[in-house]
Amino acid sequence: MTLPQPILVLLLLGLAAEAVPAQQPRETDAQRRERRAMVELIGARGVRDRATLDALRSVLRHEFVPAQYQDQAYADHPLPIGHGQTISQPYIVGYMTEMIRPKPGMKVLEVGTGSGYQAAILAAAGCEAFSIEIFEPLATSARERLNRLKYLVEVRHGDGHFGWPEEAPFDAILVTAAAGFIPPALVDQLKPGGRMLIPVGSVSGVQHLILVQKNDRGQVSTRSLLPVRFVPLLSGNRER
Ligand code: SAH
Repeated sequence: MTLPQPILVLLLLGLAAEAVPAQQPRETDAQRRERRAMVELIGARGVRDRATLDALRSVLRHEFVPAQYQDQAYADHPLPIGHGQTISQPYIVGYMTEMIRPKPGMKVLEVGTGSGYQAAILAAAGCEAFSIEIFEPLATSARERLNRLKYLVEVRHGDGHFGWPEEAPFDAILVTAAAGFIPPALVDQLKPGGRMLIPVGSVSGVQHLILVQKNDRGQVSTRSLLPVRFVPLLSGNRER
């Protein structure tokens, strides 16, 4: 069958339109309202850093949350993201981001990419973000999501205990899974004057968020900030 040319052209245009999916991230009025309320709550709980609050206001958290939990995307608690992992509680993301005093151009390493939400917050605050994830499928989906949403973050699949030597040293390091000990490689990869935040403790018991600071002479000190609850920092090679 041959079609008259105008119809053929229209059909082809239709195909072209369908082949290009809607790229623009979308949000409903309700999601915008809920995000504003989430940021207000985080502010009321004591996070005051403007760059951090602006980043929390600008990143569409619902884009990082699985379809079945969309209605809870702006609630102040963690949510499952598969592989037994979670996207962290928004308040903790705000708290940890504020504690590294984010500034444009700062080089920051995150261990535990998960959904990519914390990494997006760092990028939105102007940091140059690098993030390591031990589960290959999570690393791949977070990388794709961050690219689609235009956040400049380098994501690598691997065991974050060893840091990212090729990109070291870092101004700050955020570990978003609970470690049994502070990995020495991460301390090594911190710049003088740098800060690391890492939850330390047992899987089921008490964990404390620890601030590790390296002074200008390279001396390291630690301070316990608050009790937290994170999924464990794993070891080895997790493909699935
Ligand atoms: N920051 C994430 C949430 C972190 S949940 C977000 O914003 O969504 C902790 C993440 O750390 C999980 O995805 C888990 O798979 C990952 N993880 C656990 N052990 C790790 C390790 N040794 N190296 C890198 N990632 C690890």
